[in-house]
Amino acid sequence: MIEYRNLRIALLGGGSVGAQVAALLLEHGEELANRVGAGLELTGIAVRDVDAPRTADIPHELFTTDAESLILGADIVIELMGGLEPARSYILQAINSGADVITANKAVLATHGPELFEAAEQVGAQLYYEAAVGGAIPIIRPLRDSLAGDRVKRILGIVNGTTNFILDRMEKTGESLDDALAVATELGYAEADPTADIEGYDAAQKAAILASLAFHTTVPLSGVHREGITKITHEQVEAARKAGYVVKLLAICERLTDAESGIDGVSARVHPALVPAAHPLAAVHGANNAVFLEAEAAGSLMFYGAGAGGIETASAVLGDVVSAARRHVIGGPGIAESTHAELPVLPISDVTTRYQLTLEVEDQPGVLATIAALFSEQGVSVEAVSQNVTGERGPDQPTATLVIVTHEAKESDLAATAVALAASDVVRAVVSVLRVEGL
Ligand code: NAP
Repeated sequence: MIEYRNLRIALLGGGSVGAQVAALLLEHGEELANRVGAGLELTGIAVRDVDAPRTADIPHELFTTDAESLILGADIVIELMGGLEPARSYILQAINSGADVITANKAVLATHGPELFEAAEQVGAQLYYEAAVGGAIPIIRPLRDSLAGDRVKRILGIVNGTTNFILDRMEKTGESLDDALAVATELGYAEADPTADIEGYDAAQKAAILASLAFHTTVPLSGVHREGITKITHEQVEAARKAGYVVKLLAICERLTDAESGIDGVSARVHPALVPAAHPLAAVHGANNAVFLEAEAAGSLMFYGAGAGGIETASAVLGDVVSAARRHVIGGPGIAESTHAELPVLPISDVTTRYQLTLEVEDQPGVLATIAALFSEQGVSVEAVSQNVTGERGPDQPTATLVIVTHEAKESDLAATAVALAASDVVRAVVSVLRVEGL
C-alpha cells in the first residue's frame, strides 16, 4: 500500500527525450508508484514553445514556458533541455530549492560538473545522470556502484553513435566519409551541423564524465585529448580491413602508472583507432554504443546497446526517477561524487600504445634499413613491416607503400619518429598514423 505523499516531478524540456519521458511517466505512473512506494506526479513540462508539435501524446495543459515556477516546489527536477545555459542555472536553482536533479546533459556535466556536484553536496541533494553517457546503456550506475569496490584500469568506449554509423558504413559500402555522413544526416543520425559528433566534442564530454567516475578524480573537459574522424579516408578503412582491423572512434580513459618513468595519473583521450577485428568492440555496428572496461578484479566487461534515441534514452532517465523517488521515500542525504583520489590528469604525450604508420617511400635498396634506424633512434620498436602497393611517380621514380606496426611506444617518441620520417630523403610521405587499441 502506498502511504507516502505524491512526489512532484518537474520536467524541463519536451523534445526527443523529454516527450518520451513524459509519456512513460503518464502511461506507467501506477506501476512506477508501486515500485517506489509513492505516487509520481508530473507537474509540468517547461519548453520554449507550448504549441510546438510533440513526438508523444501529452496533455497540452502540462506545457509551460515558465521553468522557474515549475522548479519551485518540485521534489525531482528532470533537465532535458540540453546545452549549457539556462540548463546550468536551472539545475542549480533546483538543487538550491531542495530537489534532486536528473539530467541527460553531458555538455553541462563535462563543463560544470564540479560546481553542480558541490552544490548538491552542500544541501544533501543528489544529481543523477545515467542517460548522459551511452543513452539507454547502464554505465554510470555500474561504474559508481557495482564497481565501487574494484579498481578500473581502462575504458574503451564507442560513445558516439553518429561517428560509429559513419565509420561502419564506410567499411561496409566503401563510401567516402562525406557520402556516409550524408546518409547519416538523411536517416536522422547526424544533426544539420555535425561538428560536435565528427570532431569528437561529444565523445570528449563523455570521456571526461567516464574518467572522472572511473578514477575518483575530477577530469575536466580541457584534460581530454580530442581528435575527430574528419581525416579518416576510405583508403585507411580499406587498408585496416585488409590488415584485420576496423577503424572506430574511441573514448579511452586509462590509469597510467610506470615506476621507471615516474608516471602516475590518469589520461582521457578521444581519437580514431584501429581495433582488431576479433575484439568485441569491432562487432559494434551502426549507431550502437558500447563501453568495454577492464578492472583489476572483475576483468573485462562490456556494456552494449542503443546510445541514443528518444524512448531508449528515456529508459535511463526513468531509472534515475525511480532511484531519486526511492531515496525521497527512504530519506537521508544524497551520496556525493567520489573524487577522493584527485590523480593528476596526464597529457597525451605520456600515453603508451601501438601505432600503425603508412609511408610512401622510395623503392630502392637500403630504404628499409634507413627507416628502421629512424624508428630505433627515437626508441620505437617495430613489430611488423609489410609492403602493400607499389606505384610509380615517373619512369625513374618507383615508389612503395610501407605499412609499419610498432610495439608499445610512448606517444611523444612516436610523434618524434613521425617528424623524422617526414624529413627523411627516402620517405615521400607519411600517409597515415593510426593508434592501435584493444590488443
Ligand atoms: P531536443 O529534442 O532538442 O529538446 C530540447 C527541449 O528543451 C525542447 O522541448 C525545447 O523546447 C526545450 N528547451 C530548450 N531550451 C529551452 C529553454 N531555454 N527554455 C525552455 N525550454 C527549452 O533535445 P533532446 O534530443 O531531447 O536532448 C535533451 C538532452 O538529452 C540533451 O542534453 C541531450 O544531449 C541529451 N541526450 C539526448 C539523446 C537523444 O537521443 N536525443 C541521447 C542521450 C542524451 P521546444 O520544444 O519548445 O523547442
